Amino acid sequence: MEEVKVDLGIHSYPIYISPGSIGYLGEWLSQADFSTRTLVVSDTTVGPLYGETVVASLQANGFAAELVCVAAGEASKCLTAAEKIYTQAILAGLDRKSTIIALGGGVVGDLAGFAAATYLRGVPFIQVPTTLLAQVDSSVGGKVAVDHILGKNLIGAFYQPKLVVIDPAVLETLPDRELKAGLAEVVKHGVIADNDFFAFLNDNSPAILAKDPAVLSRIIRRNCEIKASVVEQDEREANLRMILNFGHTIGHAIEAGAGFERYRHGEAIAIGMHGAALLSRYLGLCREDTVLALKNTLLRFGLPVQSSECRAEQLLSFIERDKKNISGSINWVLLEDIGRVTIRSDVPADLVKRVLTEITG
Ligand code: NAD
Ligand code: MG
Repeated sequence: MEEVKVDLGIHSYPIYISPGSIGYLGEWLSQADFSTRTLVVSDTTVGPLYGETVVASLQANGFAAELVCVAAGEASKCLTAAEKIYTQAILAGLDRKSTIIALGGGVVGDLAGFAAATYLRGVPFIQVPTTLLAQVDSSVGGKVAVDHILGKNLIGAFYQPKLVVIDPAVLETLPDRELKAGLAEVVKHGVIADNDFFAFLNDNSPAILAKDPAVLSRIIRRNCEIKASVVEQDEREANLRMILNFGHTIGHAIEAGAGFERYRHGEAIAIGMHGAALLSRYLGLCREDTVLALKNTLLRFGLPVQSSECRAEQLLSFIERDKKNISGSINWVLLEDIGRVTIRSDVPADLVKRVLTEITG
């Protein structure tokens, strides 16, 4: 079993990574200081696949465990679904020491985490992420939220889990498109922090796309280390944590511009990373071959680097509206080399326009 420690003072917690681990959850909880009442939150796709294994493992180790499933998909990241969880928690008699366990992708993790942060002013929370995106990104860092009709993730909190249990074997049933969307954030972590890891991804792309469990475990562990180290230095996104937004300024605009149904988040971020690399090149921050290295890696993992659905002017107006723009200037995360990024707010609008025109060409 691989273990990554997330060191956040009194909010520190471990991440366990091991194939088959969802079947050991009850055993691990029984060895730690968890009270016997639990509620497992999942969705209508993951619940039927893995809910029984998790609930059985909890019950076999003396825990009272119930499963509540919300409809699969982003629409469940809402207050109505959170209310369904509160109701189930009250009916199941969950008290302040009881544990809410998220079994699912980023939607379930963000939603169940939000419910855990607010039910009885906060109860212990465990993440069991089942998409690659959730395993390498959303389950680490403690951001939990639901969406509002006027925008994504607008209602939320910073709330760290007590434990994250990652089972790479559950990726077996994950649709290929979801795997690739998660790989966009994996590539991002290499680009912002680890040149060798970026090379490893390229060297092992066939095994990764074939979901080789040993290679996936290694990737997940390194990603958790990278994200954890950034979060440890800046838990509440005051500064360094911004580098995790590499590709996201343009990516968010692409998601909004093409309509949220068109792209998975990771696909939009792939296009956004290519755009950010081009922008870096035009600003003289990186070399042409760095731009190409990133582009070729994204293409190797079946990710898009351009969008014909969007228009440059439309993307520009979305970028200007982006919430990170509230203070008046956009903080661009830009590329110096693979493994090294820098933050700039003084990027000329005409260069941004040039890049947006190029990636929507
Ligand atoms: P998701 O949770 O909707 O999962 C994608 C689809 O895969 C769903 O239909 C789900 O039912 C299915 N699925 C999940 N695991 C499966 C498995 N093992 N086998 C078969 N099907 C499976 O989407 P996601 O991409 O995991 O997460 C996206 C969400 O994460 C967004 O709401 C985003 O805002 C959030 N997010 C949060 C953070 C954070 O820091 N909290 C970071 C990134 C993204
Ligand atoms: Mg992202």
